[in-house]
Amino acid sequence: MKVNNAEIVISAVKPEQYPDDQLPEFALAGRSNVGKSSFINKMINRKSLARTSSKPGKTQTLNFYILEEALYFVDVPGYGYAKVSKKEREAWGKMIETYLTERKQLKAVLLIVDIRHEPTEDDILMYDFLKYYDIPCIVIATKVDKIPRGKWQKHLKRTKEILDFDPNDEIVLFSSETGEGKDQTWAIIEKYM
Ligand code: GDP
Repeated sequence: MKVNNAEIVISAVKPEQYPDDQLPEFALAGRSNVGKSSFINKMINRKSLARTSSKPGKTQTLNFYILEEALYFVDVPGYGYAKVSKKEREAWGKMIETYLTERKQLKAVLLIVDIRHEPTEDDILMYDFLKYYDIPCIVIATKVDKIPRGKWQKHLKRTKEILDFDPNDEIVLFSSETGEGKDQTWAIIEKYM
């Protein structure tokens, strides 16, 4: 898909605010600073519609971006924040959990991980959560431009091993710098629509 029209429609703090037009939704999840905003911006051809993170802990909302009047990207606040209180984190967790497990329009979750590093405990937890609830998951292994091409497969293999990756799931090598993996990711999303 070539996206020319993208806008944020709501930063929702409660389910009553979610859009009710029944368009397919794709959630974006990942730990803070993994490159999620950059991923969104690259996918929708925008420089900075999704805020790139300088303020961890600030976005405690589900941000709905409508693309081409055809689908939503739903930006899930990055997990692994240290700065929010336990109470805030619990409320946050509950909202996300309910959204991910009960939202009928949700077609798949794109889980963003950093290809350079081993998946974190939080990455593994999120992947396990999605598998447990049978929520379709596409893993986006981003920042691939930061390692030499000759090492991509080695890093990919390690990422899969640590996630205990289901061979039926899709994993994409991605770069928000070069656009690597962008067409492949769109092709997968379109399959789920
Ligand atoms: P977020 O917190 O997950 O939304 O992360 P950001 O999108 O703000 O990215 C965090 C940092 O990583 C920023 O400095 C980005 O410029 C950088 N970054 C994100 N994606 C890539 C990528 O694919 N390649 C490179 N080289 N840097 C990236």
